[in-house]
Amino acid sequence: ATMPPLLSAIANAGRHGVLVKSAVVLERLGAITRVAFDKTGTLTEGTPRVAEIRALPGTGITGTELLALAAAAEHPSEHPLGRAVVAAARDAGIALRPAGDFTSAPGRGVSARVDGRGIEVGSPLRLLDDDHDQARVTVAELEDAGNTAVVVLVDGLPAGVLGLSDRVRPAAAATMNRLTELTGSEPVLLTGDNRRAAARLAGEVGITDVRAGLLPQDKVAAVRELEARGAKVMVVGDGVNDAPALAAAHTGVAMGRGGSDLALDTADAVVTRDELAAIPAVIGLARRARRLVI
Ligand code: ADP
Ligand code: MG
Repeated sequence: ATMPPLLSAIANAGRHGVLVKSAVVLERLGAITRVAFDKTGTLTEGTPRVAEIRALPGTGITGTELLALAAAAEHPSEHPLGRAVVAAARDAGIALRPAGDFTSAPGRGVSARVDGRGIEVGSPLRLLDDDHDQARVTVAELEDAGNTAVVVLVDGLPAGVLGLSDRVRPAAAATMNRLTELTGSEPVLLTGDNRRAAARLAGEVGITDVRAGLLPQDKVAAVRELEARGAKVMVVGDGVNDAPALAAAHTGVAMGRGGSDLALDTADAVVTRDELAAIPAVIGLARRARRLVI
């Protein structure tokens, strides 16, 4: 059977593990000159594990209690860090406590009421003040060891820090190389995580343009800045926090497995198999399809 080139390219992309939502998207994929990656769940496997539990001295809260409170607050969370906290509590045999008033803020963390106390779990950048010395020192220790540190506040005061570690995807470094060859410029890292964890991962995969501590709207601003300099930017992400950048980019691509519903809906294309190598493959394919059409 003969298919028009764009349709057969879309089918072909599907075989490579990328669901391309329309022919317009395929056209855009062929024009990409710069690729920007989210970190957690995109360049990493997205199944972080709680590796360290540090209750701060003087709070009267034990490590077990800290994990129990954090897990109760994280229970409704879709975020990989939230899921990891809940899994750690379950693995430790901690019964999940009921929580109320759950809220979640992309790039920041979650809050809820547990046992009558206000619990917040999230980014040290967003939740710690300058005078939270003990918590800051603990965060720096955990981050220096390569963890993503998440702080737990009880009634507004830091009670402890959790260190989470996540494996880099095996194909990440090779994929960054391939994309640099294809587009003539290095991929960019856009992450809500801290500078130390971001720099460490960037070094491992071979990215030098690193932008850390970003809120969802900061990711959008970064994309706009690259596009203002003439780039046609592809954003690759998995989270609710990536959705605005996926929408703002020339092409938004969501990592399908483990990706949030909002990211999957917002993206122009979805990597259905969990493989980064599909990204350069689909750009190459889209370029060839364009040449056939024009
Ligand atoms: P990335 O851009 O690397 O995917 P995110 O924007 O999703 O990172 O998250 C940025 C930071 O916000 C995390 O490193 C963490 O500190 C905090 N955070 C976001 N959601 C949660 C959550 N559910 N629980 C704990 N921390 C969170
Ligand atoms: Mg992410």
